[in-house]
Amino acid sequence: MSKVILVTGGSGFLGSHLCSRLLQEDHEVLCLDNFFTGNKRNIHNLLANRNFELIRHDVTFPIYLEVDQIYNLACPASPVHYQFDPVQTTKTSVHGAINMLGLAKRVKARILQASTSEVYGDPDVHPQTEEYWGHVNPIGPRSCYDEGKRCAETLFFDYHRQHQLEIKVIRIFNTYGPRMHENDGRVVSNFIVQALQNRPITLYGDGCQTRSFCYVDDLIDGMVRMMESPVDLTGPVNLGNPNELTIRELAETIIEMTGSSSELIFLPLPADDPKRRQPNIDKASEELGWKPNVPLRQGLEKTIEYFDQLLNERGLHG
Ligand code: NAD
Ligand code: UDP
Repeated sequence: MSKVILVTGGSGFLGSHLCSRLLQEDHEVLCLDNFFTGNKRNIHNLLANRNFELIRHDVTFPIYLEVDQIYNLACPASPVHYQFDPVQTTKTSVHGAINMLGLAKRVKARILQASTSEVYGDPDVHPQTEEYWGHVNPIGPRSCYDEGKRCAETLFFDYHRQHQLEIKVIRIFNTYGPRMHENDGRVVSNFIVQALQNRPITLYGDGCQTRSFCYVDDLIDGMVRMMESPVDLTGPVNLGNPNELTIRELAETIIEMTGSSSELIFLPLPADDPKRRQPNIDKASEELGWKPNVPLRQGLEKTIEYFDQLLNERGLHG
């Protein structure tokens, strides 16, 4: 049945893919964004759809809408952007969650929170399961994001216990794909743009730290499955691709796939950079019947194609 669905952060990387998917399923989509890191280009092809509506708004302020479901994605996600104005980052996670939960309570909407693997911090349990409480520095440069997201999770579970709200919490692990911000400093976009321009590839530290990268289509599929899951499944549920690799391996793969002449250079490792990250996705597999299907090289191919076109349009090729 067609629903009215609010997507906060809807013009960002993940939000724009989610809006497209929900429109394909004939839902009415309200895309709310303050365009801090979002881009009109991401949703340009949706503007003509009569089921799509764009609202410029900051989630740190209340808003009154009639909706059936809320996907709460509003929050800068890359270290460069969330550290630009850390106080605003915490406000976005915490005040944003309070405002969206208040809205959900008023209109009895089901609400999903886009939480993050960063709630595990620099983990000493590997791979990370949902039962692990994490190892997070509360006062470091990443804390505005990590602790903001942790507090948002607390609020979701308190609204659930106190007001019987239908909540869904997913913990997203590193996700990549077309429409990533070309200069938000995240590793996949950085390396692809550097490789396409034949500029040095910037490895932080020795490049031996690991991450596990999920292609955006897989992630969005898991997100929608979670929203549509039975009412008693609140999560948190990890969503990500367990295929773990070192950042150096990622750099070498991208150089090979782009045929780039870029060399590797080594720069200092940022503070509190997690050494290892890999999701345990047993819960998503058992409860949602979900697992990622897109292999790294296939996803990278589509992402490289996207950035290649973007650089061409801007005349920025190497
Ligand atoms: P993004 O930066 O592309 O998207 C975030 C969107 O939120 C942007 O459109 C931005 O303008 C908007 N926004 C920021 N502050 C806002 C505010 N105060 N009011 C309204 N809109 C605001 O990032 P993304 O990768 O699409 O991430 C989306 C969500 O998923 C975030 O909540 C992020 O924490 C979470 N997440 C993403 C990843 C990932 O790998 N991409 C991993 C873990 C969690
Ligand atoms: N990284 C890197 N070079 C870059 C950008 C990032 O070596 O140009 C490293 C970064 O230090 C981290 C990993 O790649 O170890 C993933 O970084 P990203 O910011 O994409 O995600 P997060 O650290 O939030 O998982």
